[in-house]
Amino acid sequence: KLFKKLSGARALCALLKCRYSTSADDIFKFYPDEETKVNQKYRVLDEKDYSRFFSKRALRREPAFTRQITALAYKVGKDMISLAEGMPNEAIFPFTRLELTSRAGGKIIFDEKQLGTALQYLPSQGLPALLTELRSFQQALHRPPPLARDVLVTNGSQHGIYQCVELLLNHGDAIVTTEYSYSGVYSVLKPYQPDIIGIPEDEHGMIPETLESVLNERLVRGLKMPKVMYLIPTGNNPTGTVLPEGRRRKIYELACKYDFLILEDDPYMFLNYTDRVASFLSLDACGRVIRLDSLSKVVSSGMRAAWITAPAAFIQRAELHTQAEILHSCTLTQAISFHLITDRDALATHLLATRAFYEQRRNALSGALRGAGDLLQWSEPAGGLFHWVRVRGVRDVYNLVFHTAFDRGLMLVPGQAFQYDSSGPCQFLRLTFSKINEQDIEPTVRLLADIVRHEQQL
Ligand code: PMP
Repeated sequence: KLFKKLSGARALCALLKCRYSTSADDIFKFYPDEETKVNQKYRVLDEKDYSRFFSKRALRREPAFTRQITALAYKVGKDMISLAEGMPNEAIFPFTRLELTSRAGGKIIFDEKQLGTALQYLPSQGLPALLTELRSFQQALHRPPPLARDVLVTNGSQHGIYQCVELLLNHGDAIVTTEYSYSGVYSVLKPYQPDIIGIPEDEHGMIPETLESVLNERLVRGLKMPKVMYLIPTGNNPTGTVLPEGRRRKIYELACKYDFLILEDDPYMFLNYTDRVASFLSLDACGRVIRLDSLSKVVSSGMRAAWITAPAAFIQRAELHTQAEILHSCTLTQAISFHLITDRDALATHLLATRAFYEQRRNALSGALRGAGDLLQWSEPAGGLFHWVRVRGVRDVYNLVFHTAFDRGLMLVPGQAFQYDSSGPCQFLRLTFSKINEQDIEPTVRLLADIVRHEQQL
């Protein structure tokens, strides 16, 4: 049914020359139309440069002996006699077959042997077949300028963020991000007591000119300069902005000029409701981009399927971290991800349907919010799963969220959750449109409007 719907949409798009092309080629295109030229003004970072960026803790980490042996075993093949590895024997695993049926009718089947492998230990970097697939997937999607890069599988992107922070930040280092950003990154950062530089956004995200003037001023005043920028370029959580390509290019240039790395956290890349846009990775001529991908928002959040793509020097250090921290990310998840990513046509069909599904809900919430008049101020989210809404006439939404709305059965999240320092008043709410039933959207916004009116009178 869905496929028929999509075919219809495809024909309509072709007729209207609408911005969505529904071909697999287009949904997987995150590189610029024109080939990115290597910027001659700035040099490519090498291994020595990376040592400069690594935290003291990361530089002290050493390879784990047994993990190196597991990686070696995978490299030489399975017919070695091994008295080396502390692995359980697959023959006593209690399961012999796993079959997953997709909504579209496709099947992923693991027979006893394949399931044995999918439930066994792995080298820390990831399932070798998945790594090979991810390398070519990233190459096809982003076509980054040539440079020694690699991938590492993580247990969700939150884990990737944690690793990156541990690998790069020393206590008190400076990090630059948007004024409002993903709360999960703050949870990681807090114990490092970093100097957070929050750059305000407009409806298109971070403004490069504002960034440059803030950086310049810090330089003049002798303040700590950032080592890292953390950005959610598509569908920023919570503001819903999608950074246009022009701004990405300027910000990338500033990363080279002011010498910081860019942590590109892009779990909403396939949930972009506006024009296609090139990723930071696709612009990375100098080896400054560490990119985090996740299947959480478009396949399954509980699988914890994600990966980092970064210069090889970074991935090597991240692998040491993984060895010590979790040995490796879940094998079964990686085996399923391998099948998902290998079947590009099925994946493209699924991603297009996912984007259409969320776009419809976004439109429905926008429509309902328009109906609330000027009580709420917001701009249409260009990507992701959230509306970022300023409540007029209420100085701080805290009481509204935790008393007025809660008492009337409505759960909300206050804007404070997306500020590093959440102690002050905040006028914003983040509204998530992903899970609410479409028919409940209008009545819920009417309830919210009622709550706001009540709160304004307090
Ligand atoms: N980054 C951002 C911007 C997110 O919104 C989220 C999930 N809310 C994550 C990372 C974590 O994703 P994962 O499930 O892959 O850990």
